Amino acid sequence: MRPADAARLGIAAHAALEALDLDLPVSAQPAAVAAVLQAVRDLDDAERETLARDLVGALARHAADGGSCRIHGRELPFCVRLDGMPEIFVRGRIDLLAERGERLVIRDYQYTSPEDDGEAHRVQLEIYALAVAAAYPARALEGEIEWLRAPAGRVAVAIDLAVSRERVGAIAARLVAALDARTAAAFPMAFSVPAPCRALGCPFVSRCFPRARREGVAT
Ligand code: SF4
Repeated sequence: MRPADAARLGIAAHAALEALDLDLPVSAQPAAVAAVLQAVRDLDDAERETLARDLVGALARHAADGGSCRIHGRELPFCVRLDGMPEIFVRGRIDLLAERGERLVIRDYQYTSPEDDGEAHRVQLEIYALAVAAAYPARALEGEIEWLRAPAGRVAVAIDLAVSRERVGAIAARLVAALDARTAAAFPMAFSVPAPCRALGCPFVSRCFPRARREGVAT
């Protein structure tokens, strides 16, 4: 799948999940999913069918929780100030905040097939956790990635707030230093070939790899 298509389907899946009542009875789920997807214009029939399958699967996973996962909110916007100086604020949106037992669960949906673990998403979840901890300082937190695309699945990402603060603070400090340096060398490229960048869906491939784009270099 081209990154642009993956991004488009991911946006449609997130929008549909935001609109769907996750606690619908199972018998009503397929019709509700179809109705939500009907409003999405830029999908062909095959994409609509695939998305419907994956969204019904997500509703089934929630139903299988049997009420043990109580939803607090979805698509929650936040703005959190990181510890330290200079002042750095991070803005974002949390796909789902729920309560499971004693813990608050911070879930991020990914419209991709499952990966081996959720470590690639750790920093993102840790930033979300810092925002949730600011609002709920006494609660234990857990991150969670839910991969929506069949065969789909979920994985927990343990959150240690002290470690998260340190890691995110260190990244912020490096970013500030790079911005202060005002040189291209301060922003080294993450990859030397464009294939992994495309797999990530990075929108800057044509800037970082102009030759590959011009000459159609195989990646
Ligand atoms: S294309 Fe994106 S991920 Fe790849 S090196 Fe450039 S900015 Fe980094």
